[in-house]
Amino acid sequence: MEQAVTDIDQTVESGITPGGLEGTFRDVLSKDHARRGKPPLHFADMTEKERTATATSLGLPKFRVRQLANHYFAHYDTDVANYTDFPAQLRSDVQRAFFPRLISEVTHQVADSGTTIKTLWQLFDGSHIESVLMRYPNRATLCISSQVGCGMGCPFCATGSLGLTRNLSAAEIVEQVRVAAKAMAEGKVAGGPGRLSNVVFMGEGEPMGNYRSVLAAVRMISAEPPFGFGISARNITVSTVGVVPGIKKLTAEGIPVRLAVSLHAPSDELRNELVPMNRRFDSGQVLDAAHDYYLTSHRRVSIEYALMRGINDQPEHARLLARRLNHYGDHWVHVNPIPLNPIEGSKWTASKPEDEVRFLEILNSAGIPATLRDTRGSDIDGACGQLAARVLNKRS
Ligand code: SF4
Repeated sequence: MEQAVTDIDQTVESGITPGGLEGTFRDVLSKDHARRGKPPLHFADMTEKERTATATSLGLPKFRVRQLANHYFAHYDTDVANYTDFPAQLRSDVQRAFFPRLISEVTHQVADSGTTIKTLWQLFDGSHIESVLMRYPNRATLCISSQVGCGMGCPFCATGSLGLTRNLSAAEIVEQVRVAAKAMAEGKVAGGPGRLSNVVFMGEGEPMGNYRSVLAAVRMISAEPPFGFGISARNITVSTVGVVPGIKKLTAEGIPVRLAVSLHAPSDELRNELVPMNRRFDSGQVLDAAHDYYLTSHRRVSIEYALMRGINDQPEHARLLARRLNHYGDHWVHVNPIPLNPIEGSKWTASKPEDEVRFLEILNSAGIPATLRDTRGSDIDGACGQLAARVLNKRS
């Protein structure tokens, strides 16, 4: 048992899934994957003890740590020059020690009358990631990245074609959220001041491949200020392409986040081709783990399914998908078919609209709730990694 737990830890922390003689899966690494050094340590990376120790080294008493947390999590402010409750002569030291700049905007695109904003960020080592903020009448959702690139190698996905460069630190993840929450609070998104209400880990990367940082970020996003941003865990979605040990570990955490599984195919034969990770953890293992997550968390699981013309979007695919999901009973799952954001020139292209409609109808008539995923912004998609695909591909 001990051994099993250790294996799970190694799996999720390395992002590389150890295999035996069969079913080995390794991250596909990008050309510039290398030891890149660690991002500067940031307030959001530190434990309470580390924050206190750092404060002490600057000659600050312990209560200052709570003040810093308040500035950061309640007011989204990392500019220490604004901290009028801090001694002026110490502010630059505090800035350096706690709030080094981790993400810098390179550019952003606005769509949907200013309610969708896609931002390209540069990190300390010159890497890039993206996040997308989408405002709706009753909520504002931020789609964030957990890794630079992705090592899962799905052949239809532009992010996958770049490979994995590196994991993000917890603070690099949390900073994407802070900046969006600040933009919402300051009315920088069309519609006036508002609140960031939802966060989805569906940008670049496989969240389970960077489990520790993702979980630390989930805790900070969901804790009430001054310990976090106070976004309910129920409004946070963690996606995975099917890293079963990660799903099991998340199940054991007992945090009521929504789990989204990118299935993309109803049979192992097809999924082996579309999602290489399936050769390590097959669709039966993935669905078993997802259903266990539902039983434990009482949260309905989302099944993400990128519709590809003539590949996985035919009636027989929809019928088999419905059969496999119904095998576990009712009301445990919701399917989100997503029009594919295709890589130019690849054999994987978006489904015909009539095939999308028929796919949905078959699922619905089999009792499986399914809704076509809203794709905000003409080129802003939201399957894992699909989000960043176009800009990334242009860049590469
Ligand atoms: S589809 Fe998702 S898991 Fe697969 S390569 Fe793209 S980002 Fe990674």
